[in-house]
Amino acid sequence: MPDPYEAPLPKPTPETRPYWDALRKHELHLQRCGACNEAYFYPRNFCPNCLSSDVAWFQASGRGRLHTFTIVHVTGPNPVLPVPYVLAMIELEEGPCLMSNLVGVEPDPSSLWCEMLVQIEYADVTEECTLARFRPVEGA
Ligand SMILES: [Zn+2]
Repeated sequence: MPDPYEAPLPKPTPETRPYWDALRKHELHLQRCGACNEAYFYPRNFCPNCLSSDVAWFQASGRGRLHTFTIVHVTGPNPVLPVPYVLAMIELEEGPCLMSNLVGVEPDPSSLWCEMLVQIEYADVTEECTLARFRPVEGA
């Protein structure tokens, strides 16, 4: 990580603020629909599956699988990680997918495979901002 962190930072909205506040506490919070029971990401005030507004936050496990990935070799100024790095879609245990970075592994296709078990890692990039990253589960 560049020091100090100079990559663009998220700008929380009223809908996403609980997600970012939870990351600051090193917890991953998602929303679940009370009508159809579907968990979803990104945060919003209605269920993307059935459009119900009966939604609530819950603490997720932080475990998931590598759904797909690419290796970033070229970026603009102030990348989120030194290149090369892994940009990944993570399928969380609770169902939703989120885009993140995979760390703790060589950024090389021979070291990565879809369905690889991963777990969240909390990156405190500034005093106010924590990002969710993932790393392979040891021994999985
Ligand atoms: Zn629903």
